[in-house]
Amino acid sequence: MGTGGGGMTTVESRSVLRVLNPTTGELNTTLPAATAEDVAKAAEQARQVFDSGVWSRSPVRERSAVLLRLAALMERDAELLARLDSEDAGKPISECRAGDVPGAIESIRWFAEAADKMFGRVAPTGSDSLGLTSREPIGVVAAILPWNYPLAMTAWKVGPALAAGNCLLVKPAEATPRSALHLAGLAAEAGLPDGVLTVLPGYGPVAGTALARSPLVGALSFTGSTDTGRRILKDAAETNFKRVSLEMGGKSPQVLMADALVYGDDLIDGMIEAAFLTMGQNCTAGSRILVHRSIADDVLARFTVAARDLVIGDPADPRTHIGPLVNRAAFDRVAGAVEAARAEGAHIHTSGLPDGLPPHGAYYPPTVVTHAPEGSDVLTKELFGPVVTLQTFTSETEAIALANATAYGLAASVWTRDLDAALRLARGIQAGVVSVNSYSEGDITTPFGGWKESGFGGAEKSTNAFEQWTREKTVWIRSR
Ligand code: NAD
Repeated sequence: MGTGGGGMTTVESRSVLRVLNPTTGELNTTLPAATAEDVAKAAEQARQVFDSGVWSRSPVRERSAVLLRLAALMERDAELLARLDSEDAGKPISECRAGDVPGAIESIRWFAEAADKMFGRVAPTGSDSLGLTSREPIGVVAAILPWNYPLAMTAWKVGPALAAGNCLLVKPAEATPRSALHLAGLAAEAGLPDGVLTVLPGYGPVAGTALARSPLVGALSFTGSTDTGRRILKDAAETNFKRVSLEMGGKSPQVLMADALVYGDDLIDGMIEAAFLTMGQNCTAGSRILVHRSIADDVLARFTVAARDLVIGDPADPRTHIGPLVNRAAFDRVAGAVEAARAEGAHIHTSGLPDGLPPHGAYYPPTVVTHAPEGSDVLTKELFGPVVTLQTFTSETEAIALANATAYGLAASVWTRDLDAALRLARGIQAGVVSVNSYSEGDITTPFGGWKESGFGGAEKSTNAFEQWTREKTVWIRSR
């Protein structure tokens, strides 16, 4: 028995997925794992369904109606969906109820309503000709998903891909296939024709690779780690040059200018959320606190007190803020990085773990690392755990340089009352999303995506998502 690719899943043979609860170690479900042949067959079926036109050429209002029914069914089953993600990923149930599930429903509904507002363009041509463009579905498309926001990430891709008329193959992460499978069942109940949405639970190197290399898949949207993204891009280049969109890791800064403490508890609450949502296993986690030297001691004191107040416990308990990490390997990675930082001279601030935690869970306490040497791993590598570093600066230029001192560029937050400084920082920081005086990725109306090694930038959410899932055709008409 070994460990599965992405999470708390053990392998007895490559054809079975055993999905375990990270808190209790109990078996949540056993599923057949999709093989390369299963993927090829699903892609072939999807191709036939696409070509039949039953979905791809159906009136856009009909597609909207099906997706709106799906959103309503998700609302009906919201509690079940929250429970599935909480049990599979170890996410606090309160987060799933308040964030992941409502966000997923909003995403499906928004794209359902946006579908008939996806217009083409008319070119300014000469008098005897008309140049116009239309946006057309790509055909068979695929999504490969991470385990940390299972339903929410699925919905970001299902909404626009289906609204645009594609047939979508979804590969959920090994650890968290159940919410995507339930979603597919709800889609069928909503009236989605067979073969338009197919969920293929399976292993990354098997089912994921088969999707990335499939000659029938015309576009693939990936959310996950930078290493896997690199491999997928290579697979696509070596096969059919499918359009690839990548949403990957991050090492996002929280920049606190000298006046930031005017925001008092709002500042500290925002910082805590940025650092520790989903135990810091969040692509946009604000894992690097960059603070003006004049307020650094105050900020560290207030932040560590607030971190100590977080309830560490069973994710099924609605009072819990911090559950276990997704698996033992994640724990080893996080603990190893903190110990390496300590050995390099960094100071470690943590209040440790309470007694009586579920013995199976890989719990790691909220931790702040200060005095880490410049360029060290803890300051530059994505840790994906409840660990933040704190660095100080004395000038805006230094703050921007520190913010940009990683290979990533997903998100950032900036806290200051000085509008000019906020704008200069927002322009200077190389990241796909910069929020000022909050920790926010925006909402469904605004684009999301990372720069640099975090991705190709801004392809998810908003009407941008339709560009990812459609292609533009020019039709040139000459009058004779
Ligand atoms: P991961 O890269 O290990 O796995 C992601 C998915 O890729 C899984 O479904 C996995 O099975 C699949 N996969 C693995 N190897 C593959 C291969 N060779 N070919 C094709 N598919 C393969 O990532 P993870 O551990 O599930 O998720 C955590 C990572 O995701 C973090 O780096 C995090 O920052 C990132 N993330 C990014 C965003 C974003 O929007 N930018 C959102 C959530 C998570």
